[in-house]
Amino acid sequence: MELDLLPLGLPSDNERPFVIAGPCSAETEEQVMTTARQLADKGCHMFRAGIWKPRTKPGGFEGNGEKALPWMQQVKKETGMLTATEVATPEHVELALKYGVDILWVGARTTANPFAMQALADSLRGIDVPVLVKNPVNPDLELWIGALERINGAGIKRLGAIHRGFSSYDKKIYRNLPMWQIPIELHRRIPNLPIACDPSHIGGRRDLIAPLCQQAMDMGMDGLIVESHCNPEQAWSDASQQVTPDVLDYILSILNIREEVQSTEPLAALRKQIDEIDNELIDILGKRMRICREIGQYKKEHGLTVVQTSRYSEILDKRGAQGQLLGISADCVKQIFESIHEESVNQQIEIINK
Ligand code: PEP
Ligand code: MN
Repeated sequence: MELDLLPLGLPSDNERPFVIAGPCSAETEEQVMTTARQLADKGCHMFRAGIWKPRTKPGGFEGNGEKALPWMQQVKKETGMLTATEVATPEHVELALKYGVDILWVGARTTANPFAMQALADSLRGIDVPVLVKNPVNPDLELWIGALERINGAGIKRLGAIHRGFSSYDKKIYRNLPMWQIPIELHRRIPNLPIACDPSHIGGRRDLIAPLCQQAMDMGMDGLIVESHCNPEQAWSDASQQVTPDVLDYILSILNIREEVQSTEPLAALRKQIDEIDNELIDILGKRMRICREIGQYKKEHGLTVVQTSRYSEILDKRGAQGQLLGISADCVKQIFESIHEESVNQQIEIINK
């Protein structure tokens, strides 16, 4: 399905990026107003705050709900910033619009649910408001596009996407894996759809915000949505990933905005995908080596030999056949696995001799 889109029309000093900043949650009137004033002083044009918070477990702070909406009105009145919040149900949409919220976004958990997306879309019919749809929690581009199609199908033309990373069981550096190839592919599929990056929910850590913002700019993304709080350590949700307006201003000031890679330049886009895949390859090899070292420890404790020939032949046979099915010569697969095996053996020998 072709999307029928109009420019988002969000304010920004330069062409790129547009920036939406504000706390994860609207906690108190004072926290909202203090943060908003500080952001406005730094020249920020759009203020975000969660009014309804989707929490992984019950019992956490689930947002103030309607009570916090007058605070958003106050932000707009006093600072002139546009306001943005997450909506997950038709009731949220109705209330947010009733209090004049300017920009709505759909959270990652909601995007993953087509029933919820359709209900949201139906509640937006006939309304002209910019809507930003976060990627679903799971790395499923079709589900993301389907959610965008539902909202667009309801007549919302000022539509954008937010890349906030993808949930994974094996959390290492990132709270949510960026998997940049997915937003890149979204851009290839729907070139005129603006995409913003949410480095806060990808990184999960303050110190990752700056490098992720830069990476998003290098990927040609159009905007940033960053969590910023007047007192991040004391935040009621996502404390570890929020930065003060001061720090955010510094992060934005050192961004290096390079000329956007033209989408008519297919080679550059494909190379980005290759870089991303190479990153993943190294990551996966690292994981494999970690497990090899665990096996080494087990072999040491149980007096087993490092090289077990039958296991080695089994790996070579299986992977050789699998490679051939994917158009890689059996010889190439053999060479790759010989190198990997050699490094694994070396690492295990080191452990056994320790
Ligand atoms: C948020 O923006 O605070 C939020 C809950 O994000 P996500 O839907 O990406 O988890
Ligand atoms: Mn958050």
